[in-house]
Amino acid sequence: MEKLKFAFYWAASCGGCEIAVLDINEKILDVAAKADIVFWPVALDIKYKDVEAMPDKSVDACFFNGAIRNEENERMAKLLRQKSKVMVAFGSCACDGSVIGLGNLWNREKIFERVYLETPSTNNPQDVTPQTRFKVTQGELELPEFYDTVKTLVQTVDVDYFISGCPPPVPRIIEALDNILSGKLPHKGSSFLLNKALCEECPREKKERKITQIKRVYEIEDDFKTCFLDQGVVCMGPATRGGCGAQCLNANIPCTGCGGPAPRVSDQGAAMAGAFASIIANPKLVRQIVDPVGTFYKYSLANSILQRRIMK
Ligand code: SF4
Repeated sequence: MEKLKFAFYWAASCGGCEIAVLDINEKILDVAAKADIVFWPVALDIKYKDVEAMPDKSVDACFFNGAIRNEENERMAKLLRQKSKVMVAFGSCACDGSVIGLGNLWNREKIFERVYLETPSTNNPQDVTPQTRFKVTQGELELPEFYDTVKTLVQTVDVDYFISGCPPPVPRIIEALDNILSGKLPHKGSSFLLNKALCEECPREKKERKITQIKRVYEIEDDFKTCFLDQGVVCMGPATRGGCGAQCLNANIPCTGCGGPAPRVSDQGAAMAGAFASIIANPKLVRQIVDPVGTFYKYSLANSILQRRIMK
């Protein structure tokens, strides 16, 4: 039987999703028995021109991690979509923009100013910032254009399936691979995470208390049993899709929301703000939240209703 063809790509992300692929451990042998990896820049020396030469739809599944931050990310998303039968948004950055998407609070000019001119460790006496073209004696060098706005994969190309998570949980990756290898795929647009909110798989007990003070996790005397929200600590569980096995909660760390919006939630941050509003004793308590956008939209600003801050 002819082997399937898989592709993996790393756009704007930290690269943790690529490591998660290896975390499937011995399962990789089943994958290797049934599929060849035809494109994986982090591990194989394959050039973009090799992908361009592949017949359209010749790749059975492409696992695309990372947000669309620059021109190259967009070009590769479009090229891999053209070459792949199944496109999987792999990880929080591809699904929802993730931490990369918090760049949408600024624009290119402000980000370059901060990164290349202002940071305390920067030594840049000529105030050089990245240029898309630069002439040297050997010819012209090119850099992809850095966009003002981070986009998700589905805001850029048609996506068949989603596996969120930072990185995606290993059991869900294995399920996705099993589904693809056996040809038993769920309906288009499905998530390979679970169809429930994280609170439903969390071992902590919810007591539905009204909270009178917002605390950081190090400020509580945790009993390791009570819901973090009941203890005044922000936990994104009510607004986040489950399927990770509540790994952070099992390690006594509140959820920060990497599973993306819970099922039937279109805006994770707004959903969490709503859940939060229903449990605080006094609306003024919201002011105690350190970095509200970075807390409620840590993984999903680019995929939210607002998507970005308007810059004048
Ligand atoms: Fe668990 Fe957090 Fe949900 Fe509370 S809010 S039940 S701690 S996931």
